[in-house]
Amino acid sequence: MHIFAIANQKGGVGKTTTSVNLAAALAASGQRTLLVDLDPQGNATMGCGVDKRNLKQSVYHVLLQMATLEETRAPSPTGGFDVLPANRDLAGAEVELVDLDLREMRLKGALHEHRNDYDFVLIDCPPSLSMLTLNGLCAAHGVIIPMQCEYYALEGLSDLVNTIKKVHANLNRDLKIIGLLRVMFDPRSTLSNQVSAQLEQHFGDKVFQTIVPRNVRLAEAPSHGIPGVLFDKAAKGALAYLAFATELIERVKQWENEV
Ligand code: ADP
Ligand code: MG
Repeated sequence: MHIFAIANQKGGVGKTTTSVNLAAALAASGQRTLLVDLDPQGNATMGCGVDKRNLKQSVYHVLLQMATLEETRAPSPTGGFDVLPANRDLAGAEVELVDLDLREMRLKGALHEHRNDYDFVLIDCPPSLSMLTLNGLCAAHGVIIPMQCEYYALEGLSDLVNTIKKVHANLNRDLKIIGLLRVMFDPRSTLSNQVSAQLEQHFGDKVFQTIVPRNVRLAEAPSHGIPGVLFDKAAKGALAYLAFATELIERVKQWENEV
């Protein structure tokens, strides 16, 4: 089981879109996949067709050990993968976890019990470096960082990289940066191309080859509760996320051969 956190403390950079579409693309290629929604906004939950307003239990209850993962996960009716859903309840977890033992290891513990159920677990992190994100980073083997190729993209990246380094040093020796994914890319923009080249220079093969273009079909899909890769299979955005899943599966195979 490979567990990847989709993280970037900036909002609106494509974390949720990447989480939902990568989950659907992995599922479409036969991988048993679980998507964990760690954002109280519940956008990933809604985006794969699970109504966040009608949840008996959510990831909040799992983190506070009021429910098991078994009781809480739900199949995405549209995506072909399982979801550990979230809604506003999760906002309370931040405060309620503070005084508890092993507060940053709650998600890791819950996933460990189901390590034979899935090939891939994706964790959609909230836009912050909070206790929730920390739970995501402690549970994960690697981090996927979606980025927009714009002027301020690199700003803040060092904060995230430093947080990942600290978690690696103190809490989770398995954690590494899997890669940076360029999203909402506009190939006609000179600036996008410059920033993209800068990223490659700076981060080398940590930058995924796949580039996800800005594509309106990806933005329309969530309102239908259908992952973009299934909403319009021929759209450029859908094809990009399918290619990304293939690239990721390839990388994972390479590591497995290295060990
Ligand atoms: P985050 O989870 O980082 O806050 P989202 O995935 O919710 O970011 O994306 C922010 C907004 O941008 C959403 O409205 C989403 O539909 C849109 N969006 C994300 N990726 C793309 C894309 N490749 N093309 C067009 N719109 C996109
Ligand atoms: Mg989001």
